[in-house]
Amino acid sequence: MSIQSVNPRTGESFGPIIAPTTSAQVDSMIASAVTAFERWSLTSATSRAKVLFALADALDANTEKLVEIADAETALGIPRLTGEVGRTTFQLRTFAQALEKGEFVAPSIDSAVDAPLPQGHPKFLKTLRAIGPVAVFGASNFPFAFSVLGGDTASALAAGCSVVIKAHPAHPQTSQLSFDIAKKALIDAGAPEGIISLGHGFDFGKSVITDPRISAGAFTGSKAGGRALFDLAQDRECPIPFYGELGSVNPVVVTSTALSDVNAFAGAYLDSLLMGNGQFCTNPSVLFVPDNAEFINAVQEQLSHREPSPFLSEATKSLHDKNRADVISKTSARLLQGKSAPTQGFFSSPAVLVVSAQSVLTHPEYLATECFGPTGLVVTYSHSDELHAVLSKLEGALVGCLFSQNISTAEELILNALASKAGRVAFNAWPTGVAVTAGQNHGGPYPASTSSLHTSVGTSAITRFLRPVAFQGLPDESYRAVTADTVKGK
Ligand code: NAP
Repeated sequence: MSIQSVNPRTGESFGPIIAPTTSAQVDSMIASAVTAFERWSLTSATSRAKVLFALADALDANTEKLVEIADAETALGIPRLTGEVGRTTFQLRTFAQALEKGEFVAPSIDSAVDAPLPQGHPKFLKTLRAIGPVAVFGASNFPFAFSVLGGDTASALAAGCSVVIKAHPAHPQTSQLSFDIAKKALIDAGAPEGIISLGHGFDFGKSVITDPRISAGAFTGSKAGGRALFDLAQDRECPIPFYGELGSVNPVVVTSTALSDVNAFAGAYLDSLLMGNGQFCTNPSVLFVPDNAEFINAVQEQLSHREPSPFLSEATKSLHDKNRADVISKTSARLLQGKSAPTQGFFSSPAVLVVSAQSVLTHPEYLATECFGPTGLVVTYSHSDELHAVLSKLEGALVGCLFSQNISTAEELILNALASKAGRVAFNAWPTGVAVTAGQNHGGPYPASTSSLHTSVGTSAITRFLRPVAFQGLPDESYRAVTADTVKGK
């Protein structure tokens, strides 16, 4: 099926019609990625850092052009998209700086111990090697930071891998322009031809992830899509790691001490819930609050003034509307609504669905039903046993939050319950907004991610694409030869 940009504000198609990548093109892209990998994986960490800096500079220099086309395709707005390009170049520079410091590439030395077994052993030198060409699936909701040149591509390039990218069909022109700018910058900075390539179409993604020359996959998107690709990656004759970051159902627990100012709290909740029209993987999608009519009234009053914003695509709107209707009908949720949606373009009015903990305990599957868009679920609880009973039914999440004035034993139990389900636990902070830093963890138990041991944000995201190799018993000169580049950072 051909691909064309659609303006979410009007529903009208525009721009070139892009044909899906053919199987002959896939074959040649992957062959080039293999050749490029052979050279790129042997370049020194500091050479790779220089290339990443050049790539970041090229993106920064083209911010205006990139943001203009991304806004036309995603309707995410100029300020948000400009900030996102900044975050993307910050990510590239952060990986470059880590490489310059020797992080993740310096080998660890385990000196020989002259003693009988089991204490005695020869000298070991443990190195990390680039895993091979990586398949990256661009996300719909972050046309820059999780797309063609997002964190997955940046960390794979930093590790020494070449990258084959599937463009998301919701922003094909943004993907193509990002790719053209990046390719020129990479080649000008000395990276090998074939270091990155870009393809389009549903079948392209399947062909790439099942190709035996691809060594790992990285994905941000839905649970259904990520799971399908994960299964393809595992069913290969040679299974490969597939790092999927899936869904957006995140729990936020509020204790009564946090509700001293219900109006301020309701406003902050709606700001986080409706940011980017609710299309964030870190959306505060399920809010647990004590039975408190005043708070619900404050949400209702403030929500009634909130305007609808466009969805990323027609498909995102349809799925959202269907799931929202399902949750309402199956849980008899009380529906609070914002201003009505225009009929043109892809809009739905913002909404909050209020249900009791008891009702959710009867239908726990609706806790996991994702309404990716401007809809939140508020679950009211009457005592802590009920709260813990519902928390125990949650699936894995990227982030869990606790709002409380203090931390006593009761709050410690909630923090532990959240930590057993989520990859990040935030105290008195909303889940939206993911800092790109060494301490970050953006992942979590399935279905938040397909590998709960890894993060897709922050410098340690690079470890997803590095394979340990321990050298044993080589003479000292040879140890230096196998690690010279990474040790000296030439
Ligand atoms: P999606 O439907 O999962 O699609 C993401 C990518 O995977 C697209 O390139 C899609 O290709 C491909 N794909 C999907 N199903 C596939 C299959 N069975 N086999 C092969 N390839 C497949 O995600 P989306 O388009 O962004 O839709 C929105 C959903 O993604 C929401 O449910 C939301 O939760 C989730 N999401 C999560 C995050 C997060 O960070 N966790 C971020 C954004 C979105 P085609 O489009 O060409 O079919």
